[in-house]
Order: sequence, then structure tokens, then C-alpha cells
Amino acid sequence: MIRTYNNIGLKPFNTLRLDSLCDCLVEFDAVEDAPSAVSLAENQAIDGKIAIIGGGSNIVFSEEYHGVLLHPAVQGWDVEMLGNGRAKVTVGAGVELDRLVSHLCAVGYWGLENLSGIPGSVGGAAVQNAGAYGVEFGEVVKSIKVWDIAGKKFLDISREELHYGYRHSLLKEPEYAGRYIVLEVCIEVSSDYSPRLTYGPLKALSSKENLTPAEVRTAILEIRDSKLPKVEEVGSAGSYFKNPVIDSQEWKVFCKRLESENIDVESVPRFVLENDNVKIPAAWLIEQCGWKGRTLGNAGVWHKQPLILVNATGNASSTEILNLESAIVESVNSKFGIELKPEVVYL
Ligand SMILES: Cc1cc2nc3c(=O)[nH]c(=O)nc-3n(C[C@H](O)[C@H](O)[C@H](O)COP(=O)(O)OP(=O)(O)OC[C@H]3O[C@@H](n4cnc5c(N)ncnc54)[C@H](O)[C@@H]3O)c2cc1C
Repeated sequence: MIRTYNNIGLKPFNTLRLDSLCDCLVEFDAVEDAPSAVSLAENQAIDGKIAIIGGGSNIVFSEEYHGVLLHPAVQGWDVEMLGNGRAKVTVGAGVELDRLVSHLCAVGYWGLENLSGIPGSVGGAAVQNAGAYGVEFGEVVKSIKVWDIAGKKFLDISREELHYGYRHSLLKEPEYAGRYIVLEVCIEVSSDYSPRLTYGPLKALSSKENLTPAEVRTAILEIRDSKLPKVEEVGSAGSYFKNPVIDSQEWKVFCKRLESENIDVESVPRFVLENDNVKIPAAWLIEQCGWKGRTLGNAGVWHKQPLILVNATGNASSTEILNLESAIVESVNSKFGIELKPEVVYL
């Protein structure tokens, strides 16, 4: 079934709860509806401007979006047993990711438990390569079924072709962005004991006998509850910036900046990657610039996790969020010489 909404308010379609307006939103809930939904959107779109949204949990809408938003809402999942405890699960892109995670944990499958509590849809997670606590969604993806808007055909794209990286996939590369609508995602999970407990507070669980995915899920949800704003209470888009990764040359420049700021290099939290590049938590950089818990108009920086920009009063406009973003980018750049890049998508 295809539904069309004209001149619609977008507050229910984004977790930042921005009260933006959109010319037209086209929603469909069956894989085979995709070609007709796209034709309909193309007929409605001024200048052919069409964008795809999932749960809207990583999007910053402009105040007015003049174009058509396509919302694939394909529901349901099928489980195929592959033997040796493995299962192939084919999931509709519109399924809420956490509903799937909760179900798989409850029936004893490992693979997605560390992603418990991430808002948004399965389709959005496959595009963004959503990740948390040492696990990325792309690791369990086998393939995705898409409608290719430009080629006007259904395609299956394998994990190898999806170029998964840190919050990255083929569908985010400039030449493919907006071209493919994810309709279904095929993942593989396993009932063989395979917890991923490398993240600090999870390590304690490794000594627990007969640990289950559901128990890891509970621990993850507790950690998230203690740090992150609840979607139903405070508007946010999760981590607003990516953690910057710098090479050895940039690291030297950064160390000089630390020296002039009287900051001990040993106090900088960091992860050295395989290629000797260094990942620095953006949250630490933002906190060092004094932004933690501060507001600018109706927009703010979450008091427990400065990587999260929030709609502090519930009335923040898109412009206020973007002003706050610019102010943070500017202060981190001038203090540390590092330019933060957004993780969120602008529409
Ligand atoms: C409180 C909070 C906590 C969060 N925690 C995390 C976290 O721990 N880890 C993490 O990685 N993220 C986190 N996020 C961000 C967000 O939840 C994820 O990035 C999520 O996977 C986005 O899914 P979505 O369906 O909401 O996508 P949207 O925000 O709707 O879209 C994101 C991008 O994907 C594209 N897209 C969405 N669906 C489709 C589709 N079916 N076909 C083609 N393109 C599509 C959109 O065009 C857009 O470019 C958090 C967000 C919030 C609000």
C-alpha cells in the first residue's frame, strides 16, 4: 500500500523533533510497491528533489524541505535455519532495529545484542552502518535488496559490495547517495556462544557463566540509559559528530597544540588503529572546549555526553541546531586544529 501526505509537519518523522515542513511524503509498505511509489514521488517532486528517510534518527531537516520524502516502511522478517546454529534472517527495511534486536536476543541469537537501544530502522542501520560497543551492523549483513531509482530495477547488493567502514557504506558514497532504496536486509546470526565484550564496562560479563544475548542486551540498555537522552523525552540525533581519525603527521601538530594549551598528552583518550592512525573521541574535544551541558538558544549539548546535540526545550529550530554545530566546530578547530565532521545527514 502507498500513502501520500502533502504539506506535512515532520516532527513525528525525526528524533531531533524539529518542526520542519515538507511538501510531500510518500510512504509504502511492500517491496513490490517501490517502483510505483518512486514514480509517484517523481511526479510530485519540484526539480526532481527526492530523499529517502527511515526512522529519521540521524537526520537534521532544514526548516522547510521542498521536495518529496520517500519512506520505505516494509515490515516483517523471515528466519531460515542454515545449520550449525546459524540463521539467515530477511528483514523489512522499515522494521524498527531495536524490535529485531530484542527478538533475536530473546530467542538466543548472538550478533546484534551490542546494538540494543539504537533508534531507527533496519534500512537506516544498513545505510549508516550503525555501531555501538565494538560492533557494527554491517558485520552481520549478508546482502540488501534495493530498488535502483536510476536503473529502474531491483538489485541484490552483497556485503562485499557495500564497502562497510566506520559509519560508512556504499550508499553514502557521493555517486550512490539517494540512488538505492533499501527494501530488505538479509543478516546472519548464530546461537553459538559469541559475545563481544571488549568495551570496558562489558568486560565484567565475560566471567559470568551461561551468559545469554538477553543478559548482554540488559547491560547495554543500562549503560545507554545512564548516558544518552531517551528519544521519547529529549530530541536528539544521537552522536552528532564522527570521532576524528588523524594520521601521525596530524598527531604531531595536535601534540603541539596540547602543549600550548597546557594539556598533558597522556590525559587524551585515544585509540591507535591498525594503520597507526589515531582516533580521538569527539566528545572529549568538545568537553575540553567547555561545551558540555551548555545551550545556545533552544539547542544544547547533552550534559552527560557532549557528542549529542539536543533540542533542549523541544522548540529548537533547524537553524539553532546548525548554529550550535558551527560554534562547536569552530571552537574545537581553533583550540586543537581538528575539524569535526558531522555524522548526521542534512536534508
Ligand atoms: C538517542 C540516539 C542514540 C543513537 N545511538 C546510536 C548508536 O549508538 N550508534 C549509531 O550508529 N547510531 C546511533 N544513533 C543514530 C541513528 O539511530 C542511527 O544512525 C540509525 O541507524 C539511523 O537509522 P534511521 O532509520 O533513523 O535512518 P534515518 O535517520 O532516517 O536516515 C539516515 C540515512 O540513511 C538513509 N536511509 C534510511 N533508510 C533508508 C532506506 N530504507 N533506503 C535507503 N536509504 C535510507 C537516509 O536517506 C539517510 O541518508 C542514535 C540516535 C539517537 C537519536
